[in-house]
Amino acid sequence: MPADPRRAVPATDLLLADERLRGAHERLGRTLVRDVVRRVQAQVRQGALPPDGVVEAVLHQLPDAATTLVPLVNATGVVLHTNLGRAPLSPAAQAALSLAAAYVDVEFDVHSGARAARGRGALDALRSRLPEAGDVLVVNNGAAALLLAVTALAQGGEVIWSRGEMVEIGDGFRLPDLVASSGARLREVGTTNRTSRQDYLGALGDATGCILKVHPSNFRIDGFTAAVPVAELAGLGVPLVVDTGSGLLQPEPVLPDEPDIATALRDGADLVVASGDKLLGGPQAGIIAGAAPLVARLRRHPMARALRVDKLTLAALEATLRGPEPPSSRYVRARSAELRARSQAIAEQLGPEASVVPHDGAVGGGSATGVALPGWAVSLPERYAGALRAGRPPVVGCIVDGRCLLDLRCVPAAQDGLVVEAVRACR
Ligand SMILES: *Cc1c(COP(=O)(O)O)cnc(C)c1O
Repeated sequence: MPADPRRAVPATDLLLADERLRGAHERLGRTLVRDVVRRVQAQVRQGALPPDGVVEAVLHQLPDAATTLVPLVNATGVVLHTNLGRAPLSPAAQAALSLAAAYVDVEFDVHSGARAARGRGALDALRSRLPEAGDVLVVNNGAAALLLAVTALAQGGEVIWSRGEMVEIGDGFRLPDLVASSGARLREVGTTNRTSRQDYLGALGDATGCILKVHPSNFRIDGFTAAVPVAELAGLGVPLVVDTGSGLLQPEPVLPDEPDIATALRDGADLVVASGDKLLGGPQAGIIAGAAPLVARLRRHPMARALRVDKLTLAALEATLRGPEPPSSRYVRARSAELRARSQAIAEQLGPEASVVPHDGAVGGGSATGVALPGWAVSLPERYAGALRAGRPPVVGCIVDGRCLLDLRCVPAAQDGLVVEAVRACR
């Protein structure tokens, strides 16, 4: 009679004490290793694994890191893919993030030994990139920046806001609900397609806390439309808050319709709020820039403490601002001819199943909607899509007309070989 596999499963304590797993204990922690040990034991009991070689199986099944987050290859052509973590950080920002994970002088002056202004390095970097701003502030994300601005300026009063700019930014999340949660009343002006300067003027009154102008980043209205530019809403005696959304500091020639913070300030915005992990290409953060007295009011508001960023964000943001160009900016500007040549080289290595087709990339993250970034992609039979996602690392492409497309726009050229290997591993 064959031995019952259940009787042959090595005991948990014995396995955990095995010398070969010692490194894993230090790297991943006992709990995580024990969970994998139990999983492997269960596989042996079910007869899915032989009872000898259990330790090898545990080593094989251990995760690379103590997080379930998996780094992956973004072959979708969408630069700021919200489901894939928006902006990838530059190597400099990744290094800064790792450095800041230890004890750091985030709120301490090593010369005097006294407390120092929190995040001063990141704020200085932002000031020097935005000389138009009287002062700057950084909070948790773009939504937090908007919430803090309207709370500090308009709580108990009114926010004047065009009906054409009341945006749902994704996943059922609506900016009007966010603004209303500040305790300010929405004073809606204009219509969905047309709002005039006169509409704003007619709504001004004693209750006005601020005028809000939001870039409708993720949709477009064509036809009989009118909106009032920032410059024509400035200087009306009430603070003008502009939400540019995507966080461009200066105009980007490839995206001529995307608003930037410097231009909004020059046009007379009193406060500009934006996202740090969209076109700025940094960590998730909310950027606030504008008139010094208003920024000071926001900084002193009790809510600012609840929305502040941690040292990791400050470090990565500073390195994004001071360091090399972030990957997302390069990906937005990737040249079509280069993408075609890389796609062709990959397709040639993959044989007759692969071809090269034109494919437009996109900015994503709700920014620059409708702007196509012309490029090319490697085209494979659709069945590859699932297999590639199941690989290590997963390669995420997109499915178009029954084909699995791999767009190299957001894939570092150094990873082209890895893409070839990943496709071959699916065969
Ligand atoms: C994305 C976006 C936000 C929210 O920014 P998060 O950083 O995602 O919180 C707010 N306003 C506009 C116009 C946006 O595009």
